[in-house]
Formats: sequence, structure tokens, C-alpha cells
Amino acid sequence: MPPGETGASTPEPRFAQLKVLWSFVRPHWRKLLLGLVLALFGSALELANPMVVKLVLDTISEAGSLAMPIAVLLCLFGVGTVTGLWHWIVLGTVAEKVVLDARTSLVRRYFRAALIPLSRRPSGELVTRATSDTVLLREAASSSVISLINGGVLLVGTLVMMGVLDLVLLGVTASAVTVVTVLFLTLMPAIARTQEKAQNSLGLMGGVLDGSLRAIRTVKVSRAEERLGSQILTHARESARHGVRSVRREAVAWTVAFGGIQLAIIAILGVGAVRVSSGEIPVSTLVAFLLYAFTLMTPVMELSRSVTTLQSGIAAARRIREVEAIPLEPTAQDPDSAPAPVPDTVGASAGGHGTGEGSPLLELHGVTARYAPGAAAALDNVDLTVPRRGHTAIVGPSGAGKTTVLSLLLRFLEPEHGRITLDGTPYRELSPQQVRAHFCYVEQDTPVVPGTVRENLLFTRPGAGEEEVRRVLEEVLLTEKVDSLAEGLDTPLDATSFSGGQRQRIALARALLGSPDVLLLDEATSQVDAITEAAITRSVRRQAERAAVVTVAHRLSTIIHADRILLMEDGGIRARGTHEELLEQDALYRNLVAALHISETGSRGEEVPAGA
Ligand code: ADP
Ligand code: MG
Repeated sequence: MPPGETGASTPEPRFAQLKVLWSFVRPHWRKLLLGLVLALFGSALELANPMVVKLVLDTISEAGSLAMPIAVLLCLFGVGTVTGLWHWIVLGTVAEKVVLDARTSLVRRYFRAALIPLSRRPSGELVTRATSDTVLLREAASSSVISLINGGVLLVGTLVMMGVLDLVLLGVTASAVTVVTVLFLTLMPAIARTQEKAQNSLGLMGGVLDGSLRAIRTVKVSRAEERLGSQILTHARESARHGVRSVRREAVAWTVAFGGIQLAIIAILGVGAVRVSSGEIPVSTLVAFLLYAFTLMTPVMELSRSVTTLQSGIAAARRIREVEAIPLEPTAQDPDSAPAPVPDTVGASAGGHGTGEGSPLLELHGVTARYAPGAAAALDNVDLTVPRRGHTAIVGPSGAGKTTVLSLLLRFLEPEHGRITLDGTPYRELSPQQVRAHFCYVEQDTPVVPGTVRENLLFTRPGAGEEEVRRVLEEVLLTEKVDSLAEGLDTPLDATSFSGGQRQRIALARALLGSPDVLLLDEATSQVDAITEAAITRSVRRQAERAAVVTVAHRLSTIIHADRILLMEDGGIRARGTHEELLEQDALYRNLVAALHISETGSRGEEVPAGA
């Protein structure tokens, strides 16, 4: 069978899939070529071996000197060993590089991807792609490509050498080889499919396991450990089931293959004995032929193993490329016009010398946005402006679109219609990074990043000095807490040593330290106590004197002190004004405030004490 046949006999789409795999291999094709040359050289040496053995036998029967043939054998052995070693190292290195490339590209992709489509995938699954699928790529993208070609060449070479020795015996062998090959070609795709299913189940397991471990407290209190555990293990069992099925098929395939070759060898012995006794071939030819027959298993094994790893590698490559297809964040448009006129710091923070001191900093004109094409609009034709200074509070029932407004400002989401401008420049002409450079943001959930307290505080502004760090800690009333820690600012911020409210305050301190043009707070004080809240309100007011602050507010104190309030309902702005104006004009606002009043003078959701 010619080397290309395995690929050529597979259907068209699989060829396209091979291209996906090839895209990972292409950068390393030189090294792979070297690997191929070494492999072919090794095969040639292997093919020469039985012929030298025949030479030894012929020399013995002619009573000549054995020195030369033995020397040749030793030589073949030496060169073969060195070639094999080199080949192994070259391919192993390429394999690791392919894996590293794939991981690099995935990790970079995850961080550059548009937020909404990325967050739609379970993070555990994304992790599985980068950790375990890339491993499957390893063999497929290096040794299996080589093995496929080399195995084919070795197989053809062996058959040719057999033909040179004796055509009749070749006939006997060829029929066995044909049966084995046909068997493999029919069984291998099924084996690959089951392996792919096993890997898919593993990805699903990663997704659920990750989500469950995050919510482990809720899981335990709900006494759902067993239930959830077996639900997750369903995926593991599914994976094992496919794995077992694949093993069974492989076992059958191999047994038949070994059996086939074994029978072929018996047949060769039988037919060969007849031909030797009738004097048609010398014994040395039969011995050499048998040696070839014994080594026939090597290329057959190599071929089938490489087909299997190639198939699972192709599947892994496809899964990797699939998550790589998550759309990227938009880039700044309009490269022909003058570069974006927005400086890194807008006028407000420079003391009001910026362009158009009187004009608003941020403007939304007729903005409609949805989270997926065809989904209900999360915002519908919204107009709003954020001045350079002062505190804008957004209030409204949950689901009204408050977080969506912040997501649009931060370009986590792009408007479907309408226009957003920063200091007069349309967002479209700016990159998301340029836009975000003007903001600090305290998000609604999980507002801390992995690392120590200090790393968290310095996250937005790595260059900030110790003094400033101390000042913002003081502003959020965390100095005492941090000083009480043995390692102080260098304490790792894991879940146990900080309560939810303290984590919120760390996130807020980080945002204050960033001294942004716009500070965005999304329910950032939902878990803090009344005293801390008062302190935070004071520092928000201070911040509002020098820059813009937009809060999604849920506390009466925050709302009352805001310079302007936007009341949102059902993806639109229902009313705007000061607290007094809205109290007078709007029934929904009055209800909202009344409800806040009751909840805040009654029992307040206070800070949960630290878990440890
Ligand atoms: P809130 O005022 O409570 O902050 P949001 O802005 O989060 O409201 O949500 C507005 C609407 O958009 C809601 O109907 C919500 O279901 C929907 N929505 C919010 N986030 C997403 C998301 N990531 N994917 C799909 N829909 C979302
Ligand atoms: Mg929200």
C-alpha cells in the first residue's frame, strides 16, 4: 500500500480536517522533514538487515570468511541506533512545541475574545481545551504524520524486498496483508469516533465540575454532594463507556492483525519448505523471507497507531480551532482618518483644560443592544449623557438594563443601533483598550483577581506608590484588617480570609487607586455594613468632585447624594432628575424608595464575618 493511500481513501471532509491539523504542524515543517528523513533512513537500515543475514548464511554455506558480513551487521546496528535516538528527540521536541503553540494561541485568544460569547462557554470547558485537548494534539501533530509516511514506506519496502527474494512466497504474504489492511481501514474510523466522544464527555465534565466547585458551599448546605457528584460522574462514566468501546474494537483489530500475520508466517513456512525441498530457493532465502515476515508487524502497527492518534488529534485540533473561533473584540475602525483624537487622560483629570469643558464626557445616542441576535433587546433606544464630573446614579428594578449600560460603556457589548461617544469621539474609532483606559470598574460579582492583597490593589495601576495604597485602604476602612494580617499587604487573597464585603472594598480601593476619568460601580456596596458604606459614600463624593462617577445604586444613601439619577425600566430610561424631582414626579421611583426605606431601616444585609 502506498503511503498516501490511507489519507486518499478517506472521504473528502476528513481531508479538510487534516488541514486543520496541518495548520498546527506547518510552523515546524522543517523539523518534521528532518524527522521524516531520519525515520526513512532508519527504515532503510531495517530493510537491509535480513539481506545481510542472508549474506551471512550464504557465506557460511560457501565456507567463506564471516568477518565482512558481521562487520556490516554491527555497522547497521550502530548507525541505526544513533538515527533512532536522533529521530526520537527531534520529533519529541516538535511535539512539545506544537502543544505549547496551541496553548499559547488559546490563552491569548481567551483574553482577546469578545466578552459575551466567551462567557457563554463554561470556563471549565475552556480550561479542558487548553490543558487536555492540546495533549492529544502532541502525538498527532508530530510522530503520527511521520509514522504514517514511514510505516507506508516500510511496508512497501518490505513487500518489495520479499518480491526480490521470492514471488510465490510474496503472494502468500500479500493476501494476509490485504486482509489486515482492509480490517484496519474499516475499524479505525469507528475507533476514532468513540475516542472523540470520550474526549467530549471529558470537556462536559470539566465544565460542570468547575461550576460546582465554585458553588461548593451551596452544594454542601443543599446536601447535594451525592446528587451532583453522580451527575458529574455521569460524564466520566460516559467517557469511560466510549473508552471501553474503543479499547474493545482496538483489541479485536490487533488480535486479528497479529493472528493474520502469524498464520501468514505458518503458511510461508509450509510453502517455503516445499520450495526449498524442491530446490527452487535456497534455505537462506527462506530465512531472510521469514525475517521480513516477522518485521511486517512493525509497519502495520506503526500505520494503524498513527491513524488512530491522527484521528483523535484531528478531533482535538477541531475542538481547539472551534474555541479559537470565538469572535475577537472589535478593533478601532477608520484607520484612514486621523488617529483617535482622545488623549490618554481626558480634560477633567487635568484640571479642566480638555476639549469642551462644558460638553459631556460620555454620550449614548439612540442605543439599542441585545446579548444575542434575535434575543429581546436589553436596551431599547436609550439616550443618556455622563458629565465630566459628578455622581450619576442608575436605579431601577433588576433586569431593567443597568448593568448593560455599564457593559456598553466598557465595550463588553457593542450596540446594535445608535452611537456612543467618548469626549466627542465615536467608540467605533477607538479600540476597547483606548476606551477602557479612562475607566475603573467594580463589577457586581467576583471582583478580586488571583494574588495577594497588594497585587489586587495594584492591578489597575501597577506603578502606584505605597503611600497611595495606604490612603485608599483607609478610605474603604480596611487598614485595620490588613494590618491585623501576619503578612499584611502580601497576604494571598483567598476566599477564607476575606468576607464578601471586604472583597468588595478591596475592589473599590483598587478602582479608587486607578484615579480614573470615570469610576463605574455596579452595586459595589451591596455587602458592606452601614459604617463602611458611609465611608465609601464619602470617598465616592470626593471622587465625583474631580471626575465622573456612575453607580448602579441600591442603597438609599447613595441615591440621595447623587447629583443626578436615571430611573431605568424594561431596557429604557423612564425618568431622570434629582432625588426630590423624581420623588415628586414618578410613582415607580416612590415605590422603589419606599421599599429601600423599609429594607434599610429594618434588617440590613450586613457583612458576613470572615469564614476563618
Ligand atoms: P440589571 O438592571 O439588573 O443590571 P441587566 O442589564 O443585567 O439588568 O440585564 C438586562 C437584560 O439583559 C435582562 O433581561 C437580562 O436577562 C439580559 N441579560 C443580561 N446579561 C445577559 C447575558 N450575559 N446574556 C443574555 N442576556 C443577558
Ligand atoms: Mg445588574
